[in-house]
Parts: sequence; structure tokens; C-alpha cells
Amino acid sequence: MADYPSEFELDVALRDGGGARVRPIKPEDGPLLVEFFERLGTESRYFRFFRIKETLEPKEVDFFTHVDYSDRMALVAIHDGKMIGLASYDRERDHTGTAEVAFAVADEHQGRGIGTQLLQLLTTHARAHGVERFEAFVLPENRQMMRLFRNSGYELTRTIDEGVFTVDFPVALSEGLLQAEWEREKRAVAASLLPLFFPRSVAVIGASTDPTSIGGRLFHNIISEGFTGPLYPVNPKAKVIGSVRAYATIGDVPDDVDLAYIVVPQRFVVDVARQCAAAGVRGIVVISAGFSEIGEEGARLEAELLDIVRDSGMRMVGPNCMGLLNTAPSVQLNGTFAPVYPPAGNVAMSSQSGALGIAILDYANRNNIGISQFVSVGNKADVSGNDLILAWEDDPATDVITLYLESFGNPMKFSRLARRVGRRKPIVAVKSGRSESGSRAASSHTGALASSDVAVQALFRQSGVIRVDTIDQLFDAASLLASQPIPVGERVGVITNAGGPGILAADALEANGLILPELSAGLREQIGSALPAEASTRNPVDLIASGGPTEYEHVISLLLESGEVDAVMVIYIPVFAGAAQKVAEALHRSQLAYEGDVTLLSVFMQTGEDAAHYLAGKDGSRAIPTYMFPESAALALTRAVRHGQWRHRDPGKEVALGAAVEAELRMLVEDALETMPPEGGWLDPDLVGAVLEKVGLRVPRSFVVTSAKDAVRVADEMGGPVVLKVISESALHKSDVGGVALDIQGESQVKEAYKQVTRAVDDAEGVLLQEFVKGGHEVLIGMTQDPNFGPLVVFGLGGIYVELLQDVAFRIHPLTDVDASEMINEIKGSRLLDGYRNQPKGDVAALEEALLEVSGLIDAVPELVEMDLNPVKVLEPGSGVVVVDARIKIRAVEAEKHPSMRDLPGVTS
Ligand code: ADP
Ligand code: MG
Repeated sequence: MADYPSEFELDVALRDGGGARVRPIKPEDGPLLVEFFERLGTESRYFRFFRIKETLEPKEVDFFTHVDYSDRMALVAIHDGKMIGLASYDRERDHTGTAEVAFAVADEHQGRGIGTQLLQLLTTHARAHGVERFEAFVLPENRQMMRLFRNSGYELTRTIDEGVFTVDFPVALSEGLLQAEWEREKRAVAASLLPLFFPRSVAVIGASTDPTSIGGRLFHNIISEGFTGPLYPVNPKAKVIGSVRAYATIGDVPDDVDLAYIVVPQRFVVDVARQCAAAGVRGIVVISAGFSEIGEEGARLEAELLDIVRDSGMRMVGPNCMGLLNTAPSVQLNGTFAPVYPPAGNVAMSSQSGALGIAILDYANRNNIGISQFVSVGNKADVSGNDLILAWEDDPATDVITLYLESFGNPMKFSRLARRVGRRKPIVAVKSGRSESGSRAASSHTGALASSDVAVQALFRQSGVIRVDTIDQLFDAASLLASQPIPVGERVGVITNAGGPGILAADALEANGLILPELSAGLREQIGSALPAEASTRNPVDLIASGGPTEYEHVISLLLESGEVDAVMVIYIPVFAGAAQKVAEALHRSQLAYEGDVTLLSVFMQTGEDAAHYLAGKDGSRAIPTYMFPESAALALTRAVRHGQWRHRDPGKEVALGAAVEAELRMLVEDALETMPPEGGWLDPDLVGAVLEKVGLRVPRSFVVTSAKDAVRVADEMGGPVVLKVISESALHKSDVGGVALDIQGESQVKEAYKQVTRAVDDAEGVLLQEFVKGGHEVLIGMTQDPNFGPLVVFGLGGIYVELLQDVAFRIHPLTDVDASEMINEIKGSRLLDGYRNQPKGDVAALEEALLEVSGLIDAVPELVEMDLNPVKVLEPGSGVVVVDARIKIRAVEAEKHPSMRDLPGVTS
């Protein structure tokens, strides 16, 4: 019998926005089950048991509640302390790959997607226990059940026999299945957040007569912006707040309340939340602080709060947050206590810091950046950043998603979501903590290189998230993406009325890797036709100081229509008062007349007079983002270009090692683990060589010797020059202590080298005699486990200098062939492999392959903790790569590896 699988204790989101708890059945569930059975309607019982059944016999209760969590498994769904759903499978004795599944859902909870969630989780469990197919017997009139199976995304086979359908399907994951599950998750989560974003009525619990208090400000904000539904202040000490009749408790409010803000002292919050649940409130925003952010006592309260939320099916933002707002005209909910309300627009924003949230709203306001919804997520006890991304994915009011992040709740899920959502709506993120230095033990080059930010950087890059460093840059990028098409290429045309800024722009664009193409002769002639002779028709086009609205409009339109650039950057330095407005109007006219998808952005180098006003996009034309300096415009444009390239990039293919190789690897690793302590350890050199050769990596011929005499003999047999390396526990980097002798030949040299390398340390266990590999470029390939992000792969050039140069590329496992090739090109030193300055070229194709083989190894051996292949020698094209030094650390993992349950679609915690 397997252990009780506690990882299946989960909260799930349901189709109608509600939630339920799911967990494996327990032997003591008898009374719950009997009560559940008795509540089931006659029809439901009939569907489940195929006969009219009045009671469950004690024997049957025992049978259902005692499962072995392997051949027999059952999950129950619980709501309000009652069982509302039951799903089980039984593996059949004769053909062990097939199990029979059965479901029952309480009548009043049918149609909410409980069965679907139970099925998803049950199949996940079944897969991990070697079940290949599920089989279910369904009565033809049981339409609910048929629909459940049909909509699940599984490939069904249906046969009918004696009036009963047999539904049969493989439980393996397929692309279609994942799609269906994700689609369902998205709908369920979005529905659950509706009462928060689109409440029909709102209460402020802790609304205050003191207009300077948080409760007072929040209440005032909601009123002053004209929330479209009724608003109820709740305060036991006041009869009236801001001319509105107040209620003593939420229970006294004579109306259904969708959303309640809770702004009461910490010690009352849990009670108030309970009252909300009892009053049928559907969402709460807990502004009050004093929870997990203050330590253990607060964390306990937060857990209690979360329990209430989950049990009642409410959703909660916070605690410890500044609120949420929705600018949609149908709602107009100014639900934060910040002094500003941003203009309506298409940028959604989530902020993990409350204080910064205020600054962010203020910034959006001053720069006229339109916000669709803003959420200060606080401690993220329930509603997470991932939930918001899911909700915004299909929100018609939102085109760009911006995030201020301090930490990730579930990075794997974030990565999957971002990859999908980012293809339709760009995600721009500030992740703080960038300068934080690595805290990992530096027992390898890879460990030393992998600072904690490296994984975040890799995650963003692989999932297409636009990472920015500051709030300024966040809005610089967002305002471009919110109004203009994402550029389809790297070519930029620059128009200016002064030489200096034109050069600044060109430098900044080119430094970011964008291109200022030469304009064609024909185009230059057209441009020149309306300009004075002193103007420059080259790119940047310099209209000189006399250039005014007419010249600008003429040249902008020509460049937009030319097909020679993918983006046009217009720079203007006002030469007299009021001039900027005229040029801004010209820009607006050019945009209005243009229907193509070249990106247009502007730089007005001035303060005071507000060009932005004319560029906000009227008469149905696109808004044109405007910047103070060419550098910030260039950076925002670059980010948009790179994002466009990510969208169009071929994601490439993962490469698996194949079942045979994987099986051999597993044997090697499992053998090695037997003699290791539980915390694991480094593999012996000969095992390292065996592992690498199994995955297809070449290693030099190597032998372990323990005396100078043997060394001489073996070197002689090997023929040619050899390398001697001391084998020792203490020497992490052998050459640092003089434990490596290179290019050794002949008896006396070998003897001498043996003495030298063994004397270099106090704990020499022997010497590794290796074939000397001549020439080649030295690179590092490594992997390390990140506690949050899983395996990270690193590639760098420089052999023993890699830490000094820090010229490395990181990716989160698994790698595709495209990832491998991008990693190699990403580092500055990669030009060396192309034969820089008459140096020999390197076998880049073989190097790419080596990276993929490493990724395959990581896949096959989850016990890998750390690995350093340093150096890998990249020989000339056609000659391949050779791993001349390698260290591999492994550690046992639990026998049964479940996928991270929290990563499953629809699972909320
Ligand atoms: P460590 O990293 O522990 O100092 P290495 O085995 O990487 O020891 O050896 C140090 C350096 O010696 C390597 O970076 C490489 O330049 C060179 N080297 C090691 N083994 C060989 C070999 N078989 N053929 C050629 N050069 C080698
Ligand atoms: Mg080395």
C-alpha cells in the first residue's frame, strides 16, 4: 500500500467562479460518505450504482474509504465541511494497464465542473502509477457524465453493450488535452475574479468618518469616482459616513454584496471575513496589514483567513494591500486608498508593493497612461499574479499586462502562462532584487556563476516577458506597446531637427542592436524635394532648425510608406514657444493618414508645453508614445522589437535521449546512489566518463592509476602525449593547486609529473591519466538546480577563466535546438568560434548537439544536482567536441516523482 498522497490535497477553481477542496479519501471518511450518499438524488444514485439503492452497507463504506492509493484510488471534493464529489479508480486485476473510473457529484453541485477537476487529478495520479487507460460504464441517459468525458479533451472510444455505454480512453497527456485543461482553467479563474473586478455592489468594512484614515480615503475614492453600483459603509460606531447610511455589520446590509473591502484592525479581520462568508459576499479585498509579512503569528492568521476564503468559495486580494481598481465605464471602481485615479486605457497592472503602487498610479496619471485594471496584490495569499494574468488574457479592455514583482509564487506556472499569453498581449515586468548576489554554495563553476537573478532572467527570456529595470522603463515600454504595432523588424528611420539628438538616437539604437538603414536614392530624392539644400536626407534625416510642421508631415509620411524601415522615431527640439504643439499636430495628422503597421514614436526634448496631449490618439487614430530623450525612446523601441522577434521565433524542438539510453543511465545512477550518503555526492571519475559517453558526449581515453610505475606503463600503452590529474577530495579546481600536468611524454616526464601532481595535495587517491587533446576552444557547459525554477543550464567560453569573464548564457531546462543555438550566439566570446582573427574555427554544430545531450541527461536523471563540464574543447568543424574535465553531483530523489500538483490547470493552491 502506498502512502497517503498528501500532494493531492488541493484547492481547485470551478467553472462558475467558486472553489472546492479536493483530497484523497481517508479511512475515517465513512460518516462523510454516508451523509453524501444519503443526499444524492435517486437518479444520481442510479447512475452511480446502476440500480436503485437505498443505503450503503457498512461493508461498502469500508470498501470505498479504504484504498491503497495505487491500484485503488479515490478523491473527494469538500465544500463547507461536506462531501460534494467522489471520484475513484480501480485497477482491474486481469489487464493491469486499465482501471475503471466512477464519479458521483452532489445534485446541487452538478454542472460546476467538479467532476472535470476530479477527473484531471485522478488521471494525474493514475499516470504516476502506471495506469494506461481508464474505462467507465455510463448509462445512456447520464448526459452529464457523457459531457464530462467528451469535454475533457481525452480521445474517447465509446461502445454500447446491453444498454450501457463503455467509455474508454488513454490517460496519457496529449497536446489537445492540455489545451482543453488550460482553456478550462482560464475560464474558471476569470469567472472567480469577476466579483472582484465587476462587482454589482460594494461594501467597505471599516469605512471611517475620518477622511484622512485609510478606511475614510478608500470610501471617499469609491464615491468620488462614481462607482456604478451601490456602496455600503460598514462601521459599528457610525450611523452615517460621507452622507451615506452606515451598517453595523456586513450581515446588516440589506442587499447582496459582491465585493467587500476589509479595512479593520488586524485582530478583527478573520472574524469580519467569516461574517462576509456568512453574508454571501463573493470577493474580499483585505487592506489590513499584520499578516505573513510580520512573521509567524501573522502567517498563522493569514492561513486562518485563507481557510475561510477557500471553504466559502470567496476569492481574496491581499491581505496587506492597497486595493484594486477597474476603470471600465460600466464599473468605475476607484477601489484603492491612493490619492490618484488613472485615466481609462488598455494597460493592466499588478503590483506586489503597495507603496510603489501609489507611485505607479501617480506616474501613470502624470504621463497620461491609460489603465484598465490595477491590483495591489499584497501578500498574495489567495489571488496571485498568475491568476491575474489568466483573467487578463481574455479581458477585452486589456492589451498590455504590466507587473511589479518581488517574488514568484509558482514560477513554473508563470512561465507556461507567460509563454501563451505573451503571444497575444505583451507582458512587461519589473522584477526587483536584480542586484542581489548569489547565495548558492560555490562548489562548482556553475554554482558560482548562477546568482539568484540568473534564473529569473532566463525565465523571462524564455517566456517572452519584457524585463525592465525601473518603473520609468516599465511605462516607456508599456506606452509604446499599448498604442503602436509591435515592430516586425529591426530597421529604424530617424527624423530630427537638430544634429546632436539625431546622433544620440542613432548611437542608442545601434548600441541596442537595431539598424539605421541607408535610405534608397529614390526615397532620398523625394525627401529632399521639400527640404532646403542644407538639410540631410540620410538616415537620420535632419530637417535642420527651419524644419516645421509641413516638413515633418512630409518626411514622416514618406518614411512610413517607404517599406524601407520598420519603425520611425521622430525627434523635435522646440525652436520657439508653441512650436512643439504644431509639430505634434503634424505627427498626429501623419498617423491619422497612415494605415500600415510601421511603428511610430516621438521624442519631444522639452518640458512644460505638453505635446503628449496632441499625441494621445483622437479621431480613431493610434496614440503616439512620446519620450523626453532619444535614449529612453530607443530602449523602449528595442524592447518592442525583441518581443516581436520572440513572438515569431521558432520555439524549436526538444531532443530526447531515447528509452534505451535512459534505462542504462538510470542503472548507472542507481548503482552509484547505493554507496552514497542521503545528501548525495560527486561521482567517481570513471563513472562520470561512463555517464557522458552514454549520452553521446566524447571524453578522452582515461585510466586511473595509483603508482608512478603504472602511470609509465599505461602512458606507454596509450601512446602519444598524456595528461596527469590528481584525484582528490580536497582539490575542487585541480590546476589551481598544481594538480594537473599537460602534454607529458616519455618515461622520465611521466614519473616526474606523477610526483608533482600527487604532491600538490595532502589527500591524493591516485592519478587520472588522460589522452592529451591538442588545440580547440575551451568552453563550459554546466547545470545547477535552482530551488524555485528547477534545473538551469549554463554555457560560457573561457575554460578556467569563465568566472573571471562572466561571459555566460543561462537557460531553464529543457532546451530546444533553437535554445542551444541561441545560447551559443548570445555570449560575446562566441565570435571566437567563428574563427576570429585567424584563430581556428570551432565545431559549433557539435557544440549545439552537446548542449542538447546535456539537456537530455538532465531529463533522464532527475538526481542530477550539479554538473560542471569544464572545459569542453571545441575542435575544428567536423572534429567535434571533447569533454576533458567533468564533475557530476547526484542525490536521491523520492521514488515516486509527481508533477508539481500546484502547476496543474485549475489548481489554485
Ligand atoms: P581543473 O578544472 O580541476 O583545474 P582540468 O581537468 O579542467 O582541471 O584541467 C585544467 C586545464 O588543463 C583545462 O582547462 C585544460 O585547459 C587543460 N586540460 C585538461 N585536460 C586536458 C586534456 N586531456 N587535453 C588537453 N588539455 C587538457
Ligand atoms: Mg576544469
